[in-house]
Amino acid sequence: MDKCTPESLLEGRNIKITRQRQIVLGAIIGTGKPFSASDLHDSLGSEMDLATIYRNLEMLCGEGIIRQVMNEKERQYYELACKHNPEHPHFYCNICGKIYCMKQDKPMRLKSRLPGDFTVEQTVLQYRGICPDCGKE
Ligand SMILES: [Zn+2]
Ligand SMILES: [Zn+2]
Ligand SMILES: [Zn+2]
Repeated sequence: MDKCTPESLLEGRNIKITRQRQIVLGAIIGTGKPFSASDLHDSLGSEMDLATIYRNLEMLCGEGIIRQVMNEKERQYYELACKHNPEHPHFYCNICGKIYCMKQDKPMRLKSRLPGDFTVEQTVLQYRGICPDCGKE
């Protein structure tokens, strides 16, 4: 499968390609892991202000191009939601604060049936604990 480009992701949702969106999505694709608005701000340097990044992330999330991963210490983390990155659980390390993607060989079936007339559209599974790096000490 070819890697996604900012253009293919925007075109796939019929969103107008703008320079700003290309920059934000380019940085997101380049990161390849969960990120927050301020992580993006750091990697973009002076190219874009934080308010613009927030606005773009909100739009991309609403369009389903990125998804919310978890909210940690008042920071919302996101990741790319394209076909190369199906939904998976995340592990948050209580010591170093790193977020790990818990990807499986086979896509996990996270959508489950609930009793009654509830329709599940999204399941967010989070683990918390101590990561292998921090466990060594
Ligand atoms: Zn992709
Ligand atoms: Zn850790
Ligand atoms: Zn992930």
